[in-house]
Amino acid sequence: MDTTPRSVTRLIEEFHRLPGIGPKTAQRLTFYLLRTSKTQVESLSDAIRDLREQITTCALCQNIAESNPCNVCRDETRDRSMICVIEEPLDLVAIERTREYKGLYHVLHGAISPVEGIGPEDLRIKELLDRLRDGRVTEVLLATNPNLEGEATAMYLERLIKPLGIRMTRLARGLPVGGDLEYADEVTLTRALEGRREV
Ligand SMILES: [Zn+2]
Repeated sequence: MDTTPRSVTRLIEEFHRLPGIGPKTAQRLTFYLLRTSKTQVESLSDAIRDLREQITTCALCQNIAESNPCNVCRDETRDRSMICVIEEPLDLVAIERTREYKGLYHVLHGAISPVEGIGPEDLRIKELLDRLRDGRVTEVLLATNPNLEGEATAMYLERLIKPLGIRMTRLARGLPVGGDLEYADEVTLTRALEGRREV
């Protein structure tokens, strides 16, 4: 007979569902929380609840944000003629760190991957095309990851957007191939932005 209290097994199961957390780690985290102070446990559960209650998606750039439109889209000092297309919210953080880019962003929330069954319709591509309709945007910078999925996505977008007569650029080569943009160091990323090339 299982003598473990239900609330303990329940939390172990919840942790186990998270990416990268096996049964052993799930147990360790659960028992750690049992031993830790009530304040720390409450702070963690508050953070998890607030994540879903206070975070929304910006209707323009599709980034996760606490307001809609997000701070970047609302910022009048940003260059509204340029959109940098990225795969994930963390890529935006990486590019912002360089202080090199002053335009707007568009977050696709993934990349085309036949292996994982992710097609163009699963990404925020329609929303991107909607933003290009009013003619304000004159350049789209494709900053997808330098790997197979990122390349496939960039090529797909090229075919779709080029006929609209909008200038299209890509990050310069030199980013570690196969890597993720979010892990690129600032110097490499700054160079990739400065040396962006026409497509
Ligand atoms: Zn936004």
